[in-house]
Amino acid sequence: MPTHYDLLIRHGTCVLPWGIEATDVGVRNGRIAAIGVPADATADETIDANGLHVLPGLIDPHVHLRDPGDKTVESIPTGTRAAVLGGLAAVFDMPNTTPSIVDAEKLAWKQDYVEQVAWCDMGLYVGGTKTNISELASLELGKGVCGIKIFAGSSTGDLMVEDDEHLERVMRSGRRRIAYHSEDEYRLQDRKHRFKSGDPYSCHMEWRDEETAFLGTRRLMALARLTGRQAHILHVSTAQELDYLKDFRDLATCEVLVNHLTQVAPDCYDRLQGFGVMNPPIRGPRHMAAAWTAINDGTVDTVGSDHAPHPRAKKLLPWPDCPAGLTGVQTIVPVMLNHVNAGRLSLTRMVDLMCAGPARVYGVVGKGRLAAGYDADFTLVDMKRRRKIEESWIVSPCGWTPFAGMDITGWPVTTIVRGQAVMREDEVLGTPRGQLVRFLG
Ligand SMILES: [Zn+2]
Repeated sequence: MPTHYDLLIRHGTCVLPWGIEATDVGVRNGRIAAIGVPADATADETIDANGLHVLPGLIDPHVHLRDPGDKTVESIPTGTRAAVLGGLAAVFDMPNTTPSIVDAEKLAWKQDYVEQVAWCDMGLYVGGTKTNISELASLELGKGVCGIKIFAGSSTGDLMVEDDEHLERVMRSGRRRIAYHSEDEYRLQDRKHRFKSGDPYSCHMEWRDEETAFLGTRRLMALARLTGRQAHILHVSTAQELDYLKDFRDLATCEVLVNHLTQVAPDCYDRLQGFGVMNPPIRGPRHMAAAWTAINDGTVDTVGSDHAPHPRAKKLLPWPDCPAGLTGVQTIVPVMLNHVNAGRLSLTRMVDLMCAGPARVYGVVGKGRLAAGYDADFTLVDMKRRRKIEESWIVSPCGWTPFAGMDITGWPVTTIVRGQAVMREDEVLGTPRGQLVRFLG
């Protein structure tokens, strides 16, 4: 009798951990049952992936879905819908919501809520504060928790641990890798008076200058060395930090954002005004070039979107009253595929950054690899598809993207989560079936 599967993906070009191969994938019970399938195998459902690349389900490990918060801007139902339309099978969501996810009660609420309304799988960050340090060791082991997030410099929300004494206490409580927003808060506050309302939007990168980011990272690495605690430096934005972090590979992993790989000052501020303002800021060409070098020499472990929507009306305010943060969860995959087509990185490296990278950094169980036994998460992409990013395509209620008008080559055409197609050709399918991602405790 021929082998039978729930789902067969036939005739695709698969990005396997050991290279790119034309092979078929068989799925049973939501997991990958076989790589390489006999010609006579049968299935309940067969997807013809002829002409398409079959990637492991792509992961955006850095989003702010603002839930609980203002649903007219973003929420978990809308943000995960955007994620699957954009070709993502999982997102890891930040804790600086209203209120923030900083205790067992709020975490329990979110764990329950996510599994009712999310379209893709989700990991959850828990926020570290000066007052919950004693609970972090237990909070970081909660179901679906990808790690503790520390804001060492101020951004959206009221989470902050800026001084060495509290940072050291955080590092000494718990054992999993901690994710940091690294900007030196003292330098930010010291320099604030130099600027006034209505200054050009490009003042954002002068206020939050290179040294603000580099100093923050030097302080964190000194404490990580002292305590031996593993660190993940989010959204590294300077050439200096990328060079410096090479000496801390035993302790630190790092992320670069798609924005810092795609947009550059002063163009982003001239053209996008408040819609180019984010933390850490988009900087000049030297830093973009350094980020690409660090992508291609392996310094960078993950890329994220840092999807952080704000209302359009607030982004139109003069600097510095316009809040920092840009949308990106729906556009990260097309923009990265376009970079692949432009020859800036290989498709295998993109998959490494968006699958194996997050899996390694956060200790993901059962995702991030096309291999037998792993979750049957797939992103099917058409590397030849040409399309313009339009704001009308964006489903986040805030309704805007800093990538509007960008011509893209390479587009996600199907998203599959644990064996179920959740997006095909711009259509979201079925009902929300997202689950919490599993992590090594
Ligand atoms: Zn962020």
